Amino acid sequence: MYISNSICSSYQYQAKYEGNLGELSLLSAIQDYEEISKRKTLVSSYLHLSYDVSLDDDTLKKRKGALSQRQSVIYGDNLEWFSLDVAELDDAILASQYENDPSLTKFKSFIDELRRQKPHNLSKDVERALTVRSPYVGNRPLVSFFDKELSLMRFKLDEDGEEVNMEVLLSRMQSSNDAAFRAKCLQVLNSGLAGSVSRTAALSLSSVAGGWLIENKERKYINLRSRRNLDNNCPDEVIDSLLVGVRSAGIPLCKRFYTLKKGILQKTQGLDKFRWSDRNAPIDIGGVSNEKISWDAAVAMVKKGYNQFSPKMSEMFVSMVEEKRIDVPAANGKKGGAYCAGVIPGVGPFQLLNFDGTKQDVATLAHKSGHGVHDILAYEQGYLQYHPPLTLAETASIFGEMIVFRDLLAQSSSKEEELTLLMSKIDDVVNSVVRQCSFDRFEELVHTAREKGELSADELDEYWMSAVREYYGKEGDAGGDSPFDSYENTSHLWSYVPHFHHVPFYVYSYAFADLVVGTLYNNFLTNKEGFEGRLLALLSAGGTKDFANALGPFGLDPTSSTFWTEALTAHLGELVNEAEKIAKELGYVD
Ligand SMILES: [Zn+2]
Repeated sequence: MYISNSICSSYQYQAKYEGNLGELSLLSAIQDYEEISKRKTLVSSYLHLSYDVSLDDDTLKKRKGALSQRQSVIYGDNLEWFSLDVAELDDAILASQYENDPSLTKFKSFIDELRRQKPHNLSKDVERALTVRSPYVGNRPLVSFFDKELSLMRFKLDEDGEEVNMEVLLSRMQSSNDAAFRAKCLQVLNSGLAGSVSRTAALSLSSVAGGWLIENKERKYINLRSRRNLDNNCPDEVIDSLLVGVRSAGIPLCKRFYTLKKGILQKTQGLDKFRWSDRNAPIDIGGVSNEKISWDAAVAMVKKGYNQFSPKMSEMFVSMVEEKRIDVPAANGKKGGAYCAGVIPGVGPFQLLNFDGTKQDVATLAHKSGHGVHDILAYEQGYLQYHPPLTLAETASIFGEMIVFRDLLAQSSSKEEELTLLMSKIDDVVNSVVRQCSFDRFEELVHTAREKGELSADELDEYWMSAVREYYGKEGDAGGDSPFDSYENTSHLWSYVPHFHHVPFYVYSYAFADLVVGTLYNNFLTNKEGFEGRLLALLSAGGTKDFANALGPFGLDPTSSTFWTEALTAHLGELVNEAEKIAKELGYVD
């Protein structure tokens, strides 16, 4: 029923508007397009959300796959022309449309977004062919094959021990206080990824990089990241300055942090060497309650945290809980991890969690609820414009997480607990900022080399290790300056990072978002007067403001060359200072 209606309305839409955008009302054309797109998203979101809580339902899986194929064809056949034609509209015609229909300005950012793509669009026939074939050939099926292979992988920690999947293996490694066990997990992981897995990953990555390269040429993008940057509505220079900033100010802070961590672990866990497997190790120094946090207590903590910077956002959070928009407990047949789906204005948002009562789970609730609140606030921009650009998408979520973290820290009952919380927070920040930029460097090396031919798994191992050494230093065992003594069993780890395959050059957005929010948080501390209003305005703008305009009212200018180094010092630098000070007081370091 939906499919036939959708074909029918898309067909009628095309028959009415294609070739007539200059004569008919552009406003009506956009409004009709928005309605069709909303219905499309509503149906596919319903199937996605249903499937994610019943992964063993093969019928549902098949329906989801079939729907995606049909929707690609409908989009390619009857709808894609619209964005291409709006991009091509003559300036004078567009100006007269604005003049005749002043309410068209409501859609100005959507129109601008389509027109920014103009120099990079291909002909209609080529775009259509690329769209309708995408579910069948090229990167998409290859990448999803590889994803599935990864999810089917099983690892054995000892001869007659149980077999575990990768998520369980990584979580055991990161939660263990036993350095030898952690090293064993890493060895099992790296050797499991060797051979056919990394060969398949190399094929997938080679194909993704090859496709990216050739489309960049056809679509006339100047440098490797330009296409992603344009999608994020962010000038190349700003991203280049972020990457340079992290290299110059982030790497030294990262080394200082791992030197501190190494010192604490040597005293508390008797490490002989600081290995890569110790990177995310928990700090276990007593004074910390490991009691499980109930769902009600978690909700109360997030509510209180949000209330500190915005009573309005706190209310929105509570309404999400009360309206049962959050699927809470971990359950069999449910997708792992957590997410928040905005769906469409008037219907969403919905959250999927796997809540088990840990502090991390409370942080996840605070984070995902930030996305939910952001969606609710931005819905007023309508379906086509409510999605924030990638660079601002994490503002509410990381901010919410930060506030709840500061609350937990303030409630600590001992210095030991404070240090434990701080060290785990810095783990997250270093992973978001420095590690993701090292990933970006790996991608840069890979994509640059792809121009000269297909890449083997061995070559990718080499690029990986070279990026690791650039960001964390040459290992101590080899006479280098890194806090890490050894990088053994790390050479194939590139092969399980999904973003390289799914969205090339996506990873810098984690660093971008974390640093912007760290800066906003400091701005909140020093200038609380009117902060809520400024923040709500930023969030309510959804996708209608780029990051520079959105941050202007806070007196922040991310286009300035010192923005990123200052952000690093104020955010990551302050956290490291605090942790070093307490570690010294407790006698863990001199
Ligand atoms: Zn997020």
